[in-house]
Amino acid sequence: MIDKNNTNPENADQGPRSESRRQFLSRTALAGAGIALAPLLLTPQAAEAGGLFAAPNASDQKKVGAEAAQQVLKKYHEVFDARARHFNTIGQRLVNALPPSDRNTWDFKFHVLESSEVNAFALPGGNMFMFTGLYKLLSTDDAMAAVTGHEMTHVRKQHWAQASAKSQERQAGIGILLGIFHAGRAAQTLAGLADSAIGLKFSRGEEDQADEGGLQNLVAAGYNPEGMIQLFNALAKVSGNGGSLGGDFLSDHPLTSDRIKHAQQRIAAMKNVNSFPPLTPLNYSSLRG
Ligand SMILES: [Zn+2]
Repeated sequence: MIDKNNTNPENADQGPRSESRRQFLSRTALAGAGIALAPLLLTPQAAEAGGLFAAPNASDQKKVGAEAAQQVLKKYHEVFDARARHFNTIGQRLVNALPPSDRNTWDFKFHVLESSEVNAFALPGGNMFMFTGLYKLLSTDDAMAAVTGHEMTHVRKQHWAQASAKSQERQAGIGILLGIFHAGRAAQTLAGLADSAIGLKFSRGEEDQADEGGLQNLVAAGYNPEGMIQLFNALAKVSGNGGSLGGDFLSDHPLTSDRIKHAQQRIAAMKNVNSFPPLTPLNYSSLRG
């Protein structure tokens, strides 16, 4: 059961002085969410990184991502025709090319949503969403693998979990400043966490990491990395039509020339040491059910 309020009077207005740090951190963390985010404690790694809170673990990310996926699927119509099968085939090929540790940790699932929004996004834990508005602009499987590999990297690098830990730290900091020690609890319910996962905006550095990880993944899966340039070119033609959900590609971090240049440099370096298979045409209209 989700206890959103958790208004135990015994816990009210008590600070770290009257309880152990562990109790304080546990209580101010996700207790109200009804999910056990056990690692929200001061770990040596978190302390070393200068952070008070460790990021939610993989299991917690999957719980939050599953809740968020339910919200997304309530809002959008999921497509189950040949488009969905094709996206799933490409996604599974990328999954199979991942290092075993990533393959075994995350539950990647591939959904196609009927929507004119030109976008795609991933939720923590591994649910991936491709809007038909973007799908129909992709002219090769390689370009689709580029989007998908990029999104999968946000999951594998746990970008939401890191942002979540930082946000908790900020909220706790504000709580301490204001003399209240249950700050931010409202935002820490499972529903609130799911919202934060859906609306998450990534930093430039995270986008770059996702581009790099996506490129490595698609090449390991036997796709042609030029697919990423095709993707960027397709997106550049329609910039400004980003998803209202705060999806990934066009909403908040439009393509910068730096980003495209960086991908071109990475691909040129790859071409120096490898040759790649030809691009595989993708005919969207033939896949429409
Ligand atoms: Zn991204």
